[in-house]
Amino acid sequence: MKTYVTVKSIQRELSLLRHNSKTIAFVPTMGALHEGHISLIGLAKKHADTAVCSIFVNPSQFNNTEDLQKYPRTLDLDLALLKNASCDLVFTPAVEEIYPSGLMIKPELNLAHLDKVMEGHFRPGHFDGMLMVVKRLLDIVNPDFLIMGQKDFQQYSLVSMMIRQLSLPYQMIIGDTLREADGLAMSSRNRRLTPEFRIQSKIIYQALLFCQQSINSFSDLSQLGEKCIQLIDSKGLRTEYFNLVDGDSLLEVSDSTLSQKIVACVAAWAGDVRLIDNLIVKG
Ligand code: AMP
Repeated sequence: MKTYVTVKSIQRELSLLRHNSKTIAFVPTMGALHEGHISLIGLAKKHADTAVCSIFVNPSQFNNTEDLQKYPRTLDLDLALLKNASCDLVFTPAVEEIYPSGLMIKPELNLAHLDKVMEGHFRPGHFDGMLMVVKRLLDIVNPDFLIMGQKDFQQYSLVSMMIRQLSLPYQMIIGDTLREADGLAMSSRNRRLTPEFRIQSKIIYQALLFCQQSINSFSDLSQLGEKCIQLIDSKGLRTEYFNLVDGDSLLEVSDSTLSQKIVACVAAWAGDVRLIDNLIVKG
């Protein structure tokens, strides 16, 4: 496994690989890696000759400086996990390498309301920063495949939209959400949970499963959403939103017969840790 910190050095290696007709799959991450991220490296290896992973905690997607400062950074451990997963190239740039002289170029896109709802509503500016960094990283790596997780479903939807609108030549592949034994979605943030909240947080997945099982018993899906919020909050968490949305438009669906694919998306605070998760409940 080779690691690179500069744009120039990784591009030199990537152009050699391309010259030798090697295909490239790219997994962007913010580090503090866990098995969920590693499963995406596995997908990358399955689809392409070369798996490239980036580790970059992107300041422009944090609307809260405390959240940015608290974001876990475990580079040595990350590199050991990636090596063990047979990742080929790792890119760990400094902020100045990604945003030289503070340069930030925001892609011009018509995102309709995709970036306004859910995470877009509660984390203003988050998706502008995310799209900016993903576009910058794609320009640098120029992969054949871009691998992202279902765990961040709204992020996946927005990046797909950007790729379609800008006619970028990358094939997107979505990876399933890996979960702990009790169902809690793996997340870099889980390590910040207190032991008590770590136990109680499994209610998030239980509520998503309840939602999936009950979707046909509720004629008004907002009532089902309310019920799920009550379930989560009864364990001491504080739900920010629990939305049943159309899988394409991300708009809330009031009646399950009105949409082919429905995804239940949730964000909840467990103490001072904000957790997100989702589950396809129809389709
Ligand atoms: P992050 O570094 O946490 O922003 O995530 C980097 C990539 O890993 C994103 O595409 C995430 O959707 C994906 N990811 C995060 N958590 C999981 C998980 N539990 N299972 C699978 N993929 C995940």
